[in-house]
Amino acid sequence: MSTTERPRILVVGGGYVGLYAARRILKKMRYGEATVTVVDPRSYMTYQPFLPEAAAGSISPRHVVVPLRRVLPKAEVLTGRVTTIDQDRKVATIAPLVGEAYELPFDYLVIAMGAVSRTFPIPGLAEQGIGMKGIEESIGLRNHVLEQLDKADSTTDEEIRRKALTFVFIGGGFAGAETIGEVEDMARDAAKYYTNVSREDMRFVLVDAADKILPEVGPKLGLYGKEHLESRGIEIYLSTSMDSCVDGHVVLKNGLEVDSNTIVWTAGVKPNPVLSRFGLPLGPRGHVDAQPTLQVTGTDYIWAAGDNAQVPDIAARKAGVENAWCPPNAQHALRQAKVLGDNVISGMRGFPQKEYSHANKGAVAGLGLHKGVAMIVMGKMKIKVKGRLAWYMHRGYHGLAMPTWNRKIRIFADWTLAMFLKREVVSLGAMENPREEFYEAAKPAPAPAAVAEPAAGKTEAKAKAS
Ligand SMILES: Cc1cc2nc3c(=O)[nH]c(=O)nc-3n(C[C@H](O)[C@H](O)[C@H](O)COP(=O)(O)OP(=O)(O)OC[C@H]3O[C@@H](n4cnc5c(N)ncnc54)[C@H](O)[C@@H]3O)c2cc1C
Repeated sequence: MSTTERPRILVVGGGYVGLYAARRILKKMRYGEATVTVVDPRSYMTYQPFLPEAAAGSISPRHVVVPLRRVLPKAEVLTGRVTTIDQDRKVATIAPLVGEAYELPFDYLVIAMGAVSRTFPIPGLAEQGIGMKGIEESIGLRNHVLEQLDKADSTTDEEIRRKALTFVFIGGGFAGAETIGEVEDMARDAAKYYTNVSREDMRFVLVDAADKILPEVGPKLGLYGKEHLESRGIEIYLSTSMDSCVDGHVVLKNGLEVDSNTIVWTAGVKPNPVLSRFGLPLGPRGHVDAQPTLQVTGTDYIWAAGDNAQVPDIAARKAGVENAWCPPNAQHALRQAKVLGDNVISGMRGFPQKEYSHANKGAVAGLGLHKGVAMIVMGKMKIKVKGRLAWYMHRGYHGLAMPTWNRKIRIFADWTLAMFLKREVVSLGAMENPREEFYEAAKPAPAPAAVAEPAAGKTEAKAKAS
C-alpha cells in the first residue's frame, strides 16, 4: 500500500462494478490526479453469467475470471476485505489475506461489494448446500457431480446409488435454471462413458417458491423454459420450498421427500451484509441507498452501484412504473459503473453529476448446449426467441460482454474447440485437498507398539535355525 499526497479513490470490491468503475476512472483521470485503490478478498473479477457453463465444463474456469492486477496496472490492488468505514475520519479498515488489519485513508469512496446468497435458517442447508456465486463453487459443483457418477457406477448398494444420482436445485431464476440446464446436459453426456449409470438412473429436481421459473425473460419464455427442462426429464416443483435437508434428506413443503448428496442453492441474493457496519443509509432490504447520480444519499464523496445498491430506475419510472428500482443484474452493473466512474471524476473536479438511466434491453439464458431463451426489448416491442438461435444469442452476447480481449478470445476458443473435441468429463475432486496423498506418504510413522521381550531360549533357537 502506497502513502500518497494525491487524493485516494478507494473502490471497495473488484467485481463487475469495481473493475469497470476503476477502469473508467483511470481512463478519464489526468496523470497523477489521484490514486485509485481497489480492495477485494479475491485477486480476480468473476464473470458470474458464465458460472453455469464453467460448471458444465464448456468453458475453462480460469477463462471466467479476470486478474485485477493485470487489467488495472495503474491502480493499487489490495487483496483483502474492507471490514469497517469511519466516515468522520475518512478511513477504511482493511483485513488483508494475512497479518494484522490496518487503516487506509481515502478521499472518495466507491461501494461495489455486490451480493451474497440469500439463505434462510433451513435445517441442514449450511452443512449440505452449495451456492453458485463464485468460480470455486462452480468448479466444486462440477467435480462433485462427476464424482457422484463415479460413486454410483462402482457401488452395489442401491440406497447409496440413488442418493448419489439425485440432484436437487433450489431456485429457478437465471442462476438456478441455467445451472440445472447445463449440469443435466453434462451429466447426460458423461453417462455415455459409465457402464452402470444411464441418464434414466438420474433424478434432477428443480424447486421454486414462485409459480414460474426464469422471471427475467417474461412469463411466456419462462413457461417455455420450464416445459423444455421438463422434456429433458427434469422434475420441476413450483409454489413450494424446502423445509429441511438434514444429512441430505430433502423435505419439501409439498410433501415430496428425496435423498440427495447434491443440494444447489440458487434462491436469490441479498446485499452484502458487511454494509451494515459502514454507517451508510440502507434501504429496507439492506441495499445502500443511492441517488440517480449513484451518490450515496446524504453524501457527496461516496458512490454505490450494482447488486449492493438500490438505485432508482429512472427509465422505468418515466414509463409509468412507480417506485421502480434497477434490478440486480450485469446489464445495469456494467452501465452504472461507467456513469459512476464519470461522476467520481466530476466530483473530484467540482463539476455537476450525471443521472443514471437505462431502459431494459432484454435478457438471454442458456439451458445447456444448443438450448436457450432470449427476450430482446426494442422500444415497445419484445422479441422472444427460443432454442438454438437463443442459445447463439446468449453465447454471442456474453462472449462479447466478457471483459478484456484476452478473455473473449479464450472463451471463443473454448467453444470452438468444444465443437471438434468431446467435452471433458473427468472429476478432479482430489484438487480440493491436493496435499492429502503427499501427507499420507510423508506423515511420521506411528510409534511401534511395545513388543514383549522374547524369551532368551526362543531367540537362541531362531538364531540357530537361520
Ligand atoms: C450464476 C449467476 C448467473 C448470472 N447470470 C446473469 C445473466 O445472465 N445476466 C445478467 O445480467 N446478470 C447475471 N447475473 C448477475 C450479475 O452477475 C451481477 O448482477 C453482477 O455481477 C453484479 O455486479 P457487482 O459488481 O454488483 O457484484 P459482484 O460482481 O458480485 O462483485 C462484488 C465484489 O465485491 C467483493 N467483496 C465482497 N465483500 C467484500 C469486502 N468486504 N471488501 C472488499 N470487497 C468485497 C467480492 O469479492 C466481489 O468481487 C448472474 C449472477 C450469477 C450468480
